[in-house]
Amino acid sequence: MPYRCSRCDKQAIANIKYARLRLCREHLTTYIEKKVESILRKYKVLETTRRIVLAVSGGKDSMAMTWVLWRLSQRYPIKLLVTNIDLGIDGYSRRSSEIVRKYSQELGIDYIIVKLEDLLAYNIKSLSRLARRSTCSMCGVVKRYLLNLIALESKADYVALGHNLDDILAYSLKSFLSGDYISLVKFTPITKSIDGIAVGRLRPFYKVYEKEALLLALTNKVPFIVDECPLRPESSIEFHIKSFLNSIEEEKPGIKIQWINNLEKSLRDIQRNLDVGENLRVYKCSYCGLLSKSNICSFCNTTKRVLGRPLGAELRETIKRIIMVKNSPSI
Ligand code: SF4
Ligand code: ZN
Ligand code: ZN
Repeated sequence: MPYRCSRCDKQAIANIKYARLRLCREHLTTYIEKKVESILRKYKVLETTRRIVLAVSGGKDSMAMTWVLWRLSQRYPIKLLVTNIDLGIDGYSRRSSEIVRKYSQELGIDYIIVKLEDLLAYNIKSLSRLARRSTCSMCGVVKRYLLNLIALESKADYVALGHNLDDILAYSLKSFLSGDYISLVKFTPITKSIDGIAVGRLRPFYKVYEKEALLLALTNKVPFIVDECPLRPESSIEFHIKSFLNSIEEEKPGIKIQWINNLEKSLRDIQRNLDVGENLRVYKCSYCGLLSKSNICSFCNTTKRVLGRPLGAELRETIKRIIMVKNSPSI
C-alpha cells in the first residue's frame, strides 16, 4: 500500500528509516539539500568562499553533488568550476566526460575537461603498468595532483569531492584497520588550504547516505554514468566494508549517521590539537613546490622514475595555460 509523505499529502517515494520519515520527491530533495547546506554553513563555506572546483567523474555522487551545489550557487555568492579528468579508460572515460560536459552546459556552470593522454602521452592503464603500481592507486595519485593544480591555478578556495557517507565510513575504517592514522585524520567534511601549495577539500555529501545520493539523482533527472569503471577491482576492501556496515544499518537504522557524527567530532578535536601543536610537518616537493609527504611528491617521483623526469612543474605550466585560455574573453 502506498504511504503518504510525512510532510505533505503526496505519495512517499523514500522511507528514511533512521529519521522515521517517509518523503515524497520534493521533500526528499529538500531533506538532502538541507543536510548539504547545513554542513557547508557549519564550516562557514557558503559565506566566505569565492570559488569551488568540483571533482566530477560523471558517476551518481559527483553529478548529484554538482546539482546541489549549483542550486546553492543561486542563493549564495559561490562560483563553481566543474572539473573532469579523462583518464583514457577505453570508452568509459569518453562517455563520462561527455555526460559532464553536457550537464555543465545545461546548468550553465563553467567546466574544464583535461585528458591525461594530452598531458602525459599515456593513459592511466599504461602509466600504471610502467610504474608497476595498481591502476587505482596510480589513478588516485594523478587525480589528486591534477585537481590540486587546477584548483591552485584557478584560485579556488576548495576542491569539492562527491564522497558520500558510506564512502567516508569505508575509507576511514580501511585506514584505521591498516594502521594508516595519518590518512584517517583527513576524513573530515573540510580540510584547510595550505597557502600556495595545497587547496582545501570539501565533502558536501559527508552526511548523505549512498542510497540518498542515488535517489536524489534519479528523482531530479540528474544524468550520470551507470556502469562502473572497467578497471575497478572485482572485490575491493571498501566494497566488503560497505556491505558489512549496511547489514548493521539494517538491524540498527541510524547507526551509520551516528558513526559519521562521532567521526566528525573526534577528527575535529584531533585536527585542532594538530593545528596548535608542533606535530604537523608540512613538506614541499623539491621539484614542483607542492604539498608532499616527503621531499618529493608522489607525482614527481613516479614521473621521474617512469618517464625519465619529474613532470610536476611542467604540468603546472600547462594547466596554467589551459586556465588562462579558458578565462580569456573570446574574440
Ligand atoms: Fe580510477 Fe580505479 Fe576508480 Fe577506475 S576504479 S576511476 S582506475 S580509482
Ligand atoms: Zn512531501
Ligand atoms: Zn612534485
